[in-house]
Amino acid sequence: MSTEAVTEPGAPRLASETWVDIQPRRAILAMPEYHPPLAGRNGLRLDFNENTHAPSPRVREALGRITLEGFTIYPERGPVEAVVAQHLGLKPEQVLLTNAVDEAIHIVCFTFLEEGDECLFAVPSFFMYDVNAMGMGAKLVRVQADDTLAFPYERMLAAITPKTKLIILTTPNNPTGAITTREQIHNIAKAAPHAVILVDEAYFHFQGDTVMGDLVEGADAPQNILVARTFSKAYGLANLRVGLLAGPVSLLNHLRKASSPYNVNGVALAAVEACIGDTEYIDWYVQQMHEGRARIEKALDNMKVPRWPSHANFVLMHIGPRHKQFVNEMRTRNILVRDRSADPGLDGCVRLTVGLPDQVSMGIQALRDALAGINWQPAEVIKPETEPKETPEYE
Ligand SMILES: *Cc1c(COP(=O)(O)O)cnc(C)c1O
Repeated sequence: MSTEAVTEPGAPRLASETWVDIQPRRAILAMPEYHPPLAGRNGLRLDFNENTHAPSPRVREALGRITLEGFTIYPERGPVEAVVAQHLGLKPEQVLLTNAVDEAIHIVCFTFLEEGDECLFAVPSFFMYDVNAMGMGAKLVRVQADDTLAFPYERMLAAITPKTKLIILTTPNNPTGAITTREQIHNIAKAAPHAVILVDEAYFHFQGDTVMGDLVEGADAPQNILVARTFSKAYGLANLRVGLLAGPVSLLNHLRKASSPYNVNGVALAAVEACIGDTEYIDWYVQQMHEGRARIEKALDNMKVPRWPSHANFVLMHIGPRHKQFVNEMRTRNILVRDRSADPGLDGCVRLTVGLPDQVSMGIQALRDALAGINWQPAEVIKPETEPKETPEYE
C-alpha cells in the first residue's frame, strides 16, 4: 500500500471536484425501496405475523449452554443442517440453512436469475420477491389476483414463457392468506421444467399442506422445486434470522456455492437445533392460532367488516378509504396492525396478526372500539381495484 495516499493531519483536503458520483448497477437504481414501518413498535405486535409469545422453552436451555469462548468461533452450519434434514426426512445435502427466508430469496435470485430472465409470481404477495429479482435485473412478471384474492392458477400457467426462469409460489400467501395446492404446484413445475419453482412455505405450520415430502429423492422427485421455510413465524425466532432452503441436490449444490459459509450465526444454530424437534410446542402454538383466527373472523363477521378466508396466522380485512385513520385508532389503543393499502389490489385493506388468547381478546376489543371511534360504516367499503397495475406502488 502506498503511504503517499495517506492524508497527513492538517494537510489540505482534496477539492470536491475530485469526487465522482458513483452509481450502482442499473438494476439497483431501478429497484424500489422497502420501508418496513418498524419505528417504535411498542404496543401489541399484531402487525408483522411473527410469533407474539416466545419460542420453545428448549431455546433458553440451549442458549444457556453457549460459553463465552463459543462466541469466538466461526459458526458451523453443516451439523445443524444434518439435524434439520433428518427432521424433514431429507438428505443433509438437500438442505441449506440461511439468514432467514429474506436471504434464501436473495440466494435463489443471485444463483439463477440472469439479466432479462423472467421471474413470475402472483400479487399481492411478499415484497422481497420484487426487491431481489429486480436487483438481479430480471423482468418481473406479476399476475394480479382477482377480488377473491385466490391464487390465480390458470393465469399463472398462462404466463409461463420460454424465458421464465424463476416462479415463486407462496402458500399460504402473505398478505392474502390464500393457498396454492400441492397439485397446482406440481402442475406448474411440470409446465415449466426449464424454471426453478420456489415454494415459500413461511406459514406452513398454520395449514399443514406441503410439498416438502415430495422432495425425497426417488424416481419421480421433481428436479426443479425448492422449498423455503422460516423459523420466524411458528418457531418464534424472528430476531435470530434463520430459515432454510430444501430441494434436489443438483440445485442445492449451486445454492451452496452462492451462499456465504457463515451466513447463520451460532446462537441461531443452537436455537434451531434445540427447538426443531419440539413438536409439542409447535402443536400448542398452532392450536392457539387456529382458535384465535376463528375468534377474529367471527368478530369481524359480526361487525360486518369484509375479510378474506385465511390459512395462516393473520386475517386480511377490508376497512375502505379510512384505513389510515383506523390503523391510527388501533395504535392509540396500543395495538399495532399493518396497513396493506399500498399492495397491488389491496386499497383499503388492513392485516391483523393472530396472537395468544388474551392478545386476541385485546385485539378484538380494540377493533370494536376503533371502528366505533371513527364511526365506521360497512357501507363505506368499496370493492378493491383489481386491474393489474404495470408498476404497482409499495410503501
Ligand atoms: C414472514 C415471511 C417470510 C419470512 O421472513 P424471514 O426473513 O424468514 O423472517 C418469508 N416469506 C413470507 C411470505 C413471509 O410472510
